Amino acid sequence: MQRVQAEGLTWYTFSDAPSAPFRHALVTRLGGVSRGPLAALNLGSSVGDDPVAVAENHRLLFAALDLPRERVVSPHQVHGRRVARVGREDGGAIIPDTDALITNTPGTALLLRFADCAPVLLYDPVHRAAGLAHAGWRGAAGGVVAATLNAMYEVFGSRPGDMWAGIGPAIGPDHYIVGSEVVAAIAATLPGDIGVAVLREGQWYLDLPGALAAQLTALGVSRVTRAGVCTACHTEEWYSHRQERGRTGRFGALVMLD
Ligand SMILES: [Zn+2]
Repeated sequence: MQRVQAEGLTWYTFSDAPSAPFRHALVTRLGGVSRGPLAALNLGSSVGDDPVAVAENHRLLFAALDLPRERVVSPHQVHGRRVARVGREDGGAIIPDTDALITNTPGTALLLRFADCAPVLLYDPVHRAAGLAHAGWRGAAGGVVAATLNAMYEVFGSRPGDMWAGIGPAIGPDHYIVGSEVVAAIAATLPGDIGVAVLREGQWYLDLPGALAAQLTALGVSRVTRAGVCTACHTEEWYSHRQERGRTGRFGALVMLD
């Protein structure tokens, strides 16, 4: 990934991401005004932060990205598989009970929030359509990636073989302890016996980015790239719900079309 610093903030982009009109950013926690375990660029409004600080962090982010606030759409994320198509009329809105947004509207930015769950970025250069999904173990087991690809096909005609996908910073297999039923549920979404977890000292460690990459590949996405950054190993730049024992903020991932 490429590290970008501007206006006091720091974000990353995938080095092999498609070029214009596709734009994206994986925004670190550096540079905001939130304090303590929520420091600093917390974008989560349901983690006990001061609303004034969260609002200021958003202002800083939109200023750094040169993005008018009224063009940004976010969902209220619930670890589900509901997908919403959004456009200009949704700018500034919060879409309820949704974990993936898709758009083909130039200038409409999709913003989702994360702390261990994986950002899954999607772009179809043929139909000029983009998507952004939030996938933790519930999303991986529930099929949020498949639901997002299906929605992009139904709404825009996007074919997975034309698409690029990027999996952003997420908790890695060295840190993500889950139950055996979770491992079984995610394995059941994949063909054959693709491994999604390792058993170590009696505990299952889920490879969430690996499982999501396998799902994308199985669904026919031709180009899948991974950040390769574990949020739990790198709390200096990313929020990690697990590593910070629930007392943490949310970092942002954004996708838009110019
Ligand atoms: Zn780790």
